[in-house]
Amino acid sequence: MARWRWTSRKKKLSLHKSQYRGRFAPSPTGPLHFGSLVAAVGSFLDAKHHHGIWLIRMEDLDTPRCAPGAADDILRTLDAFGLHSDEPVIYQSQRTAAYDEALQRLQDLRTAYPCCCTRKEISDSALHGIEGPVYPGTCRAGIPVGREGRAWRARTDDTALTFDDALQGSITQHLESEIGDFVVKRADGLFAYQLAVVVDDAFQQISNVVRGADLLNSTARQIHLQNLLGLPTPHYMHLPVAVNAAGEKLSKQTLAQAVDSTRPVHALWHALAFLQQQPPQAMQDERLDTVWEWARRNWHAERLVGCRALPAMADELDHRGNE
Ligand code: GLU
Repeated sequence: MARWRWTSRKKKLSLHKSQYRGRFAPSPTGPLHFGSLVAAVGSFLDAKHHHGIWLIRMEDLDTPRCAPGAADDILRTLDAFGLHSDEPVIYQSQRTAAYDEALQRLQDLRTAYPCCCTRKEISDSALHGIEGPVYPGTCRAGIPVGREGRAWRARTDDTALTFDDALQGSITQHLESEIGDFVVKRADGLFAYQLAVVVDDAFQQISNVVRGADLLNSTARQIHLQNLLGLPTPHYMHLPVAVNAAGEKLSKQTLAQAVDSTRPVHALWHALAFLQQQPPQAMQDERLDTVWEWARRNWHAERLVGCRALPAMADELDHRGNE
């Protein structure tokens, strides 16, 4: 990892040993599917390979999107895979006070401002950026007379923001022109993922974020907020996302099946194969803890360098296919 490159090998190892804190942060919008299992397994193995702490954080902030019972269901599934959080699970739905405080800080610094624009107004007038319309800056200098603030946005600038991803290499974004000032508190009163994730990664002292490459584009926004709030920036590693035959990311929207928690070895073996860890065929008949032990010792994240998406095999999608 770049930050320790200048240290001696001995120091590097001992720093990792004491400081690595990773996490898996599912959104409970439905049961755990193969795509999210891959992120759980990758983050867990990278943490454990470095003798680190691994935490689970329930990102149940977007209450309208959360499915009743899904958080418990995900935790039960992770449990069946032997994936236990080293510290109590935290729930974003219970952390509003911390997000309020962070927003207050941004307001005090004049780096967050209220915005009255509707989605339609933005898409009508905006340029297209890397994630849809770029906010045109309508409310930057104040809300037009007669209108009311609905959301809060973080101010961006157009300096090049660069970070080194452990797998995806050097990534540069110009936030102002590529994303625009972005929402930190939504018009419906809910805090945005970008703010919550930054506050919580700092609160949980996360040193290493390992997650799907679908979030690679969000990272510059998160680093921008860390800089504004004076919070440390973790190391980032973005794993390839699992896509179906049509090239779509496995998700609730693409009707990805729930992983079969009654056959954890089967699903884990496939997650390891997907992550290019080359688990021996015979490992499919081993006990769960034997597979974990092998995987932890043989974790080779570097096999995924430059890889942002990989197809999930039919057998991985249809977990009951072999019975
Ligand atoms: N909750 C996000 C998701 O399920 C992941 C957030 C993160 O890992 O930063 O996609």
